[in-house]
Amino acid sequence: MIAALALGRWGHVAGADAWFALAIAGWLGWGAWGAAQDAIEQLMDQEWPIEKRERFLAVAARHPALKGIHDLRTRTSGNRDFVQFHVWVDGSMTVTDAHHVMDEIEDSLAREFPDTEILIHPDPEGHVDDDMLGASDLLAESPALLAQGAPKS
Ligand SMILES: [Zn+2]
Repeated sequence: MIAALALGRWGHVAGADAWFALAIAGWLGWGAWGAAQDAIEQLMDQEWPIEKRERFLAVAARHPALKGIHDLRTRTSGNRDFVQFHVWVDGSMTVTDAHHVMDEIEDSLAREFPDTEILIHPDPEGHVDDDMLGASDLLAESPALLAQGAPKS
């Protein structure tokens, strides 16, 4: 408003006040719209049911290079599914090989879980992320740990 007043006084720009008011109203409205969308998205987000999480783990576990899975996070938002998890692979694997393994796991999961956005984070076998509560091997502990549900981020 200061800027609008200054413009009006020094520049003799008629209606500058009104334009600024409109711009500010628009900006506030835009912010409110964004906040409302965020709130709705939060409400719509659902963790997958245990049965689906188990099925997902079982498919991922088929890959022979996979030594363990932890920090599985699943989410359904609207009509899209999102999954992220960490896997243990042989720590002496090259990045190229590990990448190849991730691609193969992703492919087999994508076949059985279409329309799912999958993010896999590879760890050297046995590595425990110290900032992660759920850093225990889900494959070894399933279904007991799955029943509790993974911690939400
Ligand atoms: Zn990890």
